[in-house]
Amino acid sequence: MSHPLDHATAAPSTLPSYLQQDNLGPWGVYLQQVDRVEPYLGNLARWVETLKRPKRTLIVDVPILMDNGTIAHYEGYRVQHNISRGPGKGGVRFHQDVTLSEVMALSAWMSIKNAAVNVPFGGAKGGIRVDPKKLSQGELERMTRRYTSEIGIIIGPNKDIPAPDVNTNEQIMAWMMDTYSVNQGSTATGVVTGKPLDLGGSLGRREATGRGVFTVGVEAARHIGMEISGARIAVQGMGNVGGVAAKLFAHAGARVVAAQDHGGTIYRAEGFDVPALLAHVAEAGTVAGFAHAERMNNHEFWSVDCDILIPAALEQQITASNAGIIKARMIIEGANGPTTPEADDILQDRNILVLPDVIANAGGVTVSYFEWVQDFSNFFWSEDDINARLVRIMKEAFGAVWEVSQDKKVSLRTATFIVGCTRILHAREMRGLYP
Ligand code: GLU
Repeated sequence: MSHPLDHATAAPSTLPSYLQQDNLGPWGVYLQQVDRVEPYLGNLARWVETLKRPKRTLIVDVPILMDNGTIAHYEGYRVQHNISRGPGKGGVRFHQDVTLSEVMALSAWMSIKNAAVNVPFGGAKGGIRVDPKKLSQGELERMTRRYTSEIGIIIGPNKDIPAPDVNTNEQIMAWMMDTYSVNQGSTATGVVTGKPLDLGGSLGRREATGRGVFTVGVEAARHIGMEISGARIAVQGMGNVGGVAAKLFAHAGARVVAAQDHGGTIYRAEGFDVPALLAHVAEAGTVAGFAHAERMNNHEFWSVDCDILIPAALEQQITASNAGIIKARMIIEGANGPTTPEADDILQDRNILVLPDVIANAGGVTVSYFEWVQDFSNFFWSEDDINARLVRIMKEAFGAVWEVSQDKKVSLRTATFIVGCTRILHAREMRGLYP
């Protein structure tokens, strides 16, 4: 017997008021990406509206006592974009420029990413609009704990599992895990991932995103006949993602010739001594001032002579204004959302291959999934096991995306969205509408 839903189509609908703005920011970028995938969704397209509005959007006030005796208020968010395939999953970002639009977009990219590598999670993201570098350690801890408590109503090991992102780390995950656990009266290691090893963290998690970037880079290079040994690489962001990717590429014989971060840009035609550069960054907090390199103007970074460009910092770095001067043959998006749709078109016209964030940086959440499984089973795996499983998942996922892109003659971004959105909307359709 046929079900009324079998014949249902999407009705024209009005967006929720908070989504009706002229400048939607990163969320607007995400919506354009969804528009590009819609023609490839077949019958599932009638569910596409699901992807265009986050399921739950929580905005919280985070008041804390400052060291000087005043009370400061910060704006915090947790957005669950989609939970059709499993609990929400995605990081928490502390940054002075965090906005609701950004957190919504990041949560949506998590939905696509988790589906693209086929881990059983939906997509979520959180953030606090704060410059954490201006807080003392005590203030940072109080802010993290109050934020965790405020979003405690929607997170949990089976509901939504935060993790590190920009400016958050293992210590912050430890405080989040502790706050959630204290509030509910028992230790719940599985409520966050990216924890310290002694608190249920996973071997390999810290390096996982960079390792994933490296893995898909090597796979793509193989497809286009590019040698990694001797390839020249430019990296924006030398943190947990860019730093690890730079180290692995250098280890494979590539030359990291340019690096940029909030402190400035450096260049060395023969390639940096990457371990020495990372030691400098650990000490100085920036690539600037590294002794064995020349300084370079920030804008020049984009036109540097290189084979591979790795944006591994923040969103909207590659735009219509610099996409035309990029010399790389391949861009690997370590960051989330670094390329605007206009820049995507320019890069495609110029035959520059873009490995999109939603597959290229999925290594982090893949090992987060391993961590979550280990926490549930209380059985911990070896680092070799973890890395081998990570590489297998990344290679398989990238191979599937590559095939879709060849078959449908679309960019790797649209191909990843086709794979991800199809999985999400298929789950959505099978679950059906309630009531
Ligand atoms: N913040 C990382 C990302 O953007 C990891 C998220 C996670 O492990 O849940 O993919």
